Amino acid sequence: MSGEARDACGVVAVYAPTPLSVDVPRLVYHALYALQHRGQESAGIAISDGDTMVVYKDLGLVAQVFDESVLQSLRGNAAIGHVRYSTSGSSTWGNAQPSYKSATTGQIALAHNGNLVNSQELKQSLADAGGDPTPGRRLHASSDTDLVASHIARACSVASAQDGGAGDMKQAILEVLGRLAGAFSFTMMDERRIFGARDPYGFRPLCIGRVGDAWILASETCALDLIGADFVRDVEPGELVTVGADGLASERFAPQGRHAACVFEHVYFARPDSTLMGQNVYATRYRMGMRLAAESTPDADLVMPVPDSGVPAAQGFARGSAIIYGEGFVKNRYVGRTFIQPTQLMRQQGIKMKLNPLREVIAGKKLVVVDDSIVRGNTTRQIVGMLRDAGAREVHMRISSPPIQWPCFYGIDMPDQDELIASRLDVEGIRAHIGADSLAYLSLDGMLEATKVPEDEFCTACFSSRYPVAISAGELASKHVVDDVAPKEELQAQRA
Ligand code: SF4
Repeated sequence: MSGEARDACGVVAVYAPTPLSVDVPRLVYHALYALQHRGQESAGIAISDGDTMVVYKDLGLVAQVFDESVLQSLRGNAAIGHVRYSTSGSSTWGNAQPSYKSATTGQIALAHNGNLVNSQELKQSLADAGGDPTPGRRLHASSDTDLVASHIARACSVASAQDGGAGDMKQAILEVLGRLAGAFSFTMMDERRIFGARDPYGFRPLCIGRVGDAWILASETCALDLIGADFVRDVEPGELVTVGADGLASERFAPQGRHAACVFEHVYFARPDSTLMGQNVYATRYRMGMRLAAESTPDADLVMPVPDSGVPAAQGFARGSAIIYGEGFVKNRYVGRTFIQPTQLMRQQGIKMKLNPLREVIAGKKLVVVDDSIVRGNTTRQIVGMLRDAGAREVHMRISSPPIQWPCFYGIDMPDQDELIASRLDVEGIRAHIGADSLAYLSLDGMLEATKVPEDEFCTACFSSRYPVAISAGELASKHVVDDVAPKEELQAQRA
């Protein structure tokens, strides 16, 4: 991706009837490994043997955080896991997940993929209620996830104080889920059960699988594949699933309504070997490339991708345009995604470290270069420059999604709106900025048709400004939404 947008997180949960039936910590570890593309900042596992819950988490990649000795020290039959790139809260150990809280009568661990849009309200109501109930903890959480875990622990403690009983964690979860607004796919656990929940719009994916007698919940089906699990079904938007000694149970915490799955998962974020909403992601991206070719094929000698994310769409473009496909870049696979580096200078160095043009393939050629998106535009500009330096005669950029003009409030970490190049410049302005001979984007209709999923199942807000969930004033301010454009007024109208 030529672009500096980051996925939020990946989540996993595994439950086995006994610790002996499968190696639960290793299954979680491998599932997290498969989901590493969803977050590279921190990784963590919470595990319980029925009585004691242990959380092990740290900053770094999955393989850096967990070594053999750590995995062997984790014991239990119920566990959740998380890989993180922060969209809410700062990048510190304390914000690594899973979040852990204890109620007076139980413990809760929680892993989150998404972003809440009413965190200010939740923070205030937690403070009003007396803060985080975990002994010795600070009153205020700094991440959405910590906040939700605190609310659940408090709700459980309050229920137990009121009825003098144990306080059921599941009831506390159901109660708190109904108070959340925004995007969330959670995996959670108490000492004896795992839980999975998706917000009523279903912004972020979450699926259910089985391996032997164990159950697994995971952000993407590629995690099921790695551990040999069979896909059972997706967790429904507005559904809470509970897995424990009695098997899997399902409850709704919100009525069926309009769905708004993130279309960008299909364009870029999900792994191409995952299946989302019944559609293989690679095949969807291939169709996007074919459709892009139908919409805008220039006179050219060679179609090449910006690897790796542009590959399926470039292959589809080559098929659709009948122009030869070739690899014009060699990618160094040992360099992380460009967005890991925090400054523009470091990002630029990162791109050069990552991609090297193949002069023999591209010199003297008219190139169609296919990428999935442009965010700030600086990366694409550098890619075009590298190709010209390597002797390309013409560079025609083709983008397999529409221009990103609006920030995401639902769990994808995009730059502020004034940094999104398409919010400031039209297509010709962007073409001039990146230095390409021509530039074309896939149309919104073309992208949606390529998914083979009904249009009204999707969120397309970053392309269309049609935000399915109203955004609070605090969230709007945090994204520096440009003042003098009409759709902001629409946003304000929504929240009014
Ligand atoms: S705004 Fe864009 S990135 Fe965010 S959920 Fe909607 S489609 Fe996905």
